[in-house]
Amino acid sequence: MCPECGGADVRAARNGIEGEGAFTLFRGHLDAGARGGVRTYRGELWTYLCLSCGRVEWKVHDPQTMAFVREHWIPVAPPAPPQGA
Ligand SMILES: [Zn+2]
Repeated sequence: MCPECGGADVRAARNGIEGEGAFTLFRGHLDAGARGGVRTYRGELWTYLCLSCGRVEWKVHDPQTMAFVREHWIPVAPPAPPQGA
């Protein structure tokens, strides 16, 4: 089900958005100005599209791709709580 509009017709495809050939290339995070090679991984990225509103969502399901991202991507800080609410 689509989390945006509640539509029931959501479609999925493994690597539905082309990376390089039959896989999606995940690249390790590099800070601006960082030197040296970037690590890459041929992972599986699933794409979901709601045929009602057009919302697109990406999802990784396999543990190998998760492990690469855990090691080579940076954590995102949770948003700060609203001030003066
Ligand atoms: Zn939708």
